[in-house]
Amino acid sequence: MVVIRGATTIAHDEKEEIRQAVKELLEQIENRNLLLRDEIMSIVFSSTSDIHAYYPAKAAREAGFESCSLFSAQEPDIEGGLPLCIRAMLFVEKDMTPHHVYLRGAKVLRRDVASVYNIAIDGPAGSGKSTVAKLLARDYHILHLDTGAMYRACALAALQAGVDVSDEIAVADLMRGVKLEVVYTDGVQRTLLGGRDVSEEIRRNDVSMAASAISKHPSVRMHMMEKQREIAGRMSCVLDGRDIGTFVLPDADFKFFLTARPEIRAQRRFDELAAKGETVDLNELKEEILRRDEQDSTRAVAPLRMAEDAVLVDTSDMTIEEAVAFIKRAMQEKI
Ligand code: C5P
Repeated sequence: MVVIRGATTIAHDEKEEIRQAVKELLEQIENRNLLLRDEIMSIVFSSTSDIHAYYPAKAAREAGFESCSLFSAQEPDIEGGLPLCIRAMLFVEKDMTPHHVYLRGAKVLRRDVASVYNIAIDGPAGSGKSTVAKLLARDYHILHLDTGAMYRACALAALQAGVDVSDEIAVADLMRGVKLEVVYTDGVQRTLLGGRDVSEEIRRNDVSMAASAISKHPSVRMHMMEKQREIAGRMSCVLDGRDIGTFVLPDADFKFFLTARPEIRAQRRFDELAAKGETVDLNELKEEILRRDEQDSTRAVAPLRMAEDAVLVDTSDMTIEEAVAFIKRAMQEKI
């Protein structure tokens, strides 16, 4: 059995806030420790004496933690203590190293364990990395950063401005004057170019090849890498790309390299483009994907390559659900 600790804070002593905070805390503890609900035997809560509006144990029950025993107690009033704080202690039937979770204002209590974690997913086009990354981010309540979208946005800016994507100086000049932003709406990444949402446009097939050409320029990569590291350093996220595990975040907590047979990758891209009404020739698409692989794997800076400590996942004969389940199991084993 292990004991997992967690704590969070609320802004006001109000029922709804307590319910939300308890739900968030327990879900994050579950996700960070890859727990199954029936592995939790009991949860003991304590809350500071300024909290009266609701029992955390009741909030836990309502959040779906029904099969374990639950208990709430009130802490004594301690001068200088963190106000409006809810603490939890989970007794778990499992042999594992516990990851304690401290959220919101409670992060100050344990800076050592409140750190963010990152999952790096690299691989070639059509390997399924973006779909898998989206699902992992959803299940773990963390951010998904699609780094390909950033290179695609640069490429779109160059195409629109009539700049030759192979001319590094011209591209760097252009990028200095263009505002590229990654924002999140309801947890979904949107890519903005000069304030305009280009999330759909950057998926065009001509943008794919241009992105691959533009991404070999060291100045472009440095600029992107800084942005990606800044985001990943601030919050837990799943990043998908080509060089995350090798270059952007060599110390990422979890690393995966997704791949699939070229004809399968081409078919996936074909279906994706067809669903958006873009018609392309399947054979041409396969040729393009292979050219893009070659271009991405042979460039001098941060080429597409599997990190030595990454787990290889061949998704050729897997459904997306199977790939996600495989990755979650591998993460669980590592923890
Ligand atoms: O993954 P996606 O197909 O959207 O990426 C478009 C292009 O951006 C890739 O072919 C690759 O050349 C480049 N890229 C990269 N490094 C990343 C992500 C994408 O070089 N981390």
